[in-house]
Amino acid sequence: MERIHIKGDTWYLDAPRASIPFYRLGGGEVVLLDSGSEFDTGIAEHFQAHGERVAAVLNTHGHLDHVHGNIELRQAFGARIYMPKLEAAMQESLLGMKAQYNPINYRIIEQVFRNDLFSADELIGVDQEEVTVAGARFRVIQTPGHSVSHVSYVTPDGVCYAGDVFSSPELLSKARILYTFCYAEDLKSKALLEQVPCECMVVAHQGVFTDIKALCRANVEYLEQRVEMILSYLDRPMTREDIYRALFTGLGLHGGSPWKESNTLNMIGALIEYLQTTRKVTTECRDGVFVYTKV
Ligand SMILES: [Zn+2]
Repeated sequence: MERIHIKGDTWYLDAPRASIPFYRLGGGEVVLLDSGSEFDTGIAEHFQAHGERVAAVLNTHGHLDHVHGNIELRQAFGARIYMPKLEAAMQESLLGMKAQYNPINYRIIEQVFRNDLFSADELIGVDQEEVTVAGARFRVIQTPGHSVSHVSYVTPDGVCYAGDVFSSPELLSKARILYTFCYAEDLKSKALLEQVPCECMVVAHQGVFTDIKALCRANVEYLEQRVEMILSYLDRPMTREDIYRALFTGLGLHGGSPWKESNTLNMIGALIEYLQTTRKVTTECRDGVFVYTKV
């Protein structure tokens, strides 16, 4: 795994599935921002090989592809785990994970998360604006929407880590559909991050960007394209299952496992909810079936 310099003491690991920033505190200690997925192995070995110790992990949110390395880094270095309070609570139990991924059924939740539960050491509040690790101040920007309580960080060098608020244009060109918990709030967070004074922004998936406005625009356009796609299918009142089927076919989606299939339905569900929130569709319950009609 290669480390790439960004600015001052801020670097990132070019991991297979993520760009994972870290900040060098001095004295051989580093602060990691998120800890990667099950595919981003070798993080502890990387720092050991450089004679460094991970003193802390600042997590943006609780999704599995951002927190998978937490337990190993705590075991290897005694790293302290920082996490948004609402998401930390959910990481502690299987029912908490079910709340995070509702309505995915409990049996699937048990299979996916039974070995990944943990308790954070430090909780980040919903109005917290900074966190200090060994004298180094990281700005905390509250950016909920992608997940319940997602936060972004700015390192003492002024490098912003946006986690999953933005995706790279390369990912946007390839991803048929992406996950967001609540688009109405996510769009506010995107607009907020667009205004953050910083020289560059790291996104988890994946890379470092200097033109933040262009990055934001590309992400908003991606959402707008998906919204237009659903509206183009709604040439008649449709049930939720009709919309699922139309999008699965239209985007060439496929499952692979009950977890992936359920997640995909959650992604489509978030888009339907956004259409309701923005009043692009009306919803009525006909004999126990929700029917959506384009306005
Ligand atoms: Zn995420």
